[in-house]
Amino acid sequence: MNERSFAATVREHSGHPLTGLTIDTVQVNVGLRCNLACRHCHVESSPKRHEEMDWPTMQAVLSAAAAAKAHSIDITGGAPEMHPHFRAFVEAGVSQALQVIVRTNLTIMLQDGYEDMPTWLAERGVQLVASLPCYLPTNVDRQRGRHVYRDSIEVIKRLNAAGYGRDPGKPLDLVYNPGGPSLPPPQAALENDYRAALRDEFGIEFRRLYTITNVPIGRFLADLADEGRDAEYLTALRNAFNADTLSGLMCRHQLHVGWDGRIYDCDFNFAVGLPAKVDAPHISEFQSDSFLNRQIAVAQHCFACTAGSGSSCGGSIVD
Ligand code: SF4
Ligand code: SF4
Repeated sequence: MNERSFAATVREHSGHPLTGLTIDTVQVNVGLRCNLACRHCHVESSPKRHEEMDWPTMQAVLSAAAAAKAHSIDITGGAPEMHPHFRAFVEAGVSQALQVIVRTNLTIMLQDGYEDMPTWLAERGVQLVASLPCYLPTNVDRQRGRHVYRDSIEVIKRLNAAGYGRDPGKPLDLVYNPGGPSLPPPQAALENDYRAALRDEFGIEFRRLYTITNVPIGRFLADLADEGRDAEYLTALRNAFNADTLSGLMCRHQLHVGWDGRIYDCDFNFAVGLPAKVDAPHISEFQSDSFLNRQIAVAQHCFACTAGSGSSCGGSIVD
């Protein structure tokens, strides 16, 4: 079996290790608490998790975004809406002229205290990226829990009513990930299928569909190992390596900040506790130039980002 490391594979194709190219986006994990506990969750969020970013660290994140001249701040969790300073953080990002992106599981917006979220977010022009791993209910509920599909559709209807997915200034993008250890189908074709199915069945609209490959870490990897399929999946990802994805890897165009303020190359590295190779590891000490010049920390899970059409928080990397 070919067990060449990801670092060796990159060097073989590009002649040098992975480094940063730009800092377009500052992605920030504000905490691990979530109202759901999905099987595939790579940060192992659940209602029992209480780790969260403090306000001074959130302010440091915004200062770093300004120093890096990033155009977007991408807020994730957990369910980021559950963070006590979520609204203040979004307001601060908007007032700093950042494009604020929120990764939402949708269902949180049906809970007490969050029902006004669709309108509140729409009024601030926040871009939403929402998980909906299939347009069929069985697949969604199997991955995310009972009634999650029904609740997600209800929230998309409310978001559409607030202008999301219909008004160009209120983008709503959906995220697909495969139900098991396989590569996603081509993004454009699947987007057409989603649009037709969701429009016909529910009259709901969205802007774009992002296909994201399951990364072999966390609960997903543990489940594969239980089934004895972990090595098979890693081999499939390695065999599907596509060098054309290297320039678009998200770690080369963003910085990721964990809830404790530590700097990472991406949320997968955050999830496995693999920090960025920088001299100043906390966001309060962020140095834009040294971050850009760093060598990106890589491991075998990186093969998920370079397989086939590639995968990132913004979907496939190449057509
Ligand atoms: S909704 Fe997202 S953060 Fe929450 S458990 Fe599911 S995958 Fe994890
Ligand atoms: S897992 Fe992270 S560091 Fe590895 S290739 Fe993907 S984005 Fe880059």
